[in-house]
Amino acid sequence: MKTANIPATSQQFPIGKIVCLARNYAEHARELGNETPAAPVLFMKPASSVIGYGEAVKIPSYSQECHYEVELAVLIGSQARNVTADHALEHVAGYGVAIDMTLRDVQNQLKSKGLPWEIAKGFDTACPLSDFVPAVAVADPHSLNLKLAVNGESRQNGNSADMINRIPQIIAHISGIFTLEPGDVILTGTPAGVGQVRAGDVMTAEIASIGSLTIPVT
Ligand code: ZN
Repeated sequence: MKTANIPATSQQFPIGKIVCLARNYAEHARELGNETPAAPVLFMKPASSVIGYGEAVKIPSYSQECHYEVELAVLIGSQARNVTADHALEHVAGYGVAIDMTLRDVQNQLKSKGLPWEIAKGFDTACPLSDFVPAVAVADPHSLNLKLAVNGESRQNGNSADMINRIPQIIAHISGIFTLEPGDVILTGTPAGVGQVRAGDVMTAEIASIGSLTIPVT
């Protein structure tokens, strides 16, 4: 069982489902040649895909193109079903740093055939996740600098201010489809600059005032 930890409050949540947004930053949607969607585009990763400090991403043998995507992770602390945006943030326990590892070649092949792309997003080690800081310690989750470097070289540098759908709207939307439960995690999409990593690379993801995560690739 994977757990989400909030060290400042000693809280631990068994991780449930991980609901992810695609194309939630306009510049990233453009770099992949995708339209900016009207409604949030959702997919899920299983809890078994989570890794943490001291662990490594293992690129599956069925892919030749594994991409990093740094994302702000939202940890749900109480059940949310059909909540309004006004009340959505009451259900957030904390914020963390995630890397949405994506097998871009596999995803593109499956998308072009109209097939689901879980195996490009939900494989073992596909969700590096940091510890969480309590939600009350984050004054504004929409003014956070997100960065990712590979082998010390900057690749992504964005800001959560540029999200298309903001966290209250995201939670309201998701909770009308999937009941959110304590320990569920939402990945809020990635800014521009995604790219490939190979075995031997080391990724460092960092979100200002939230934390950082250094993960090797094998
Ligand atoms: Zn993503």
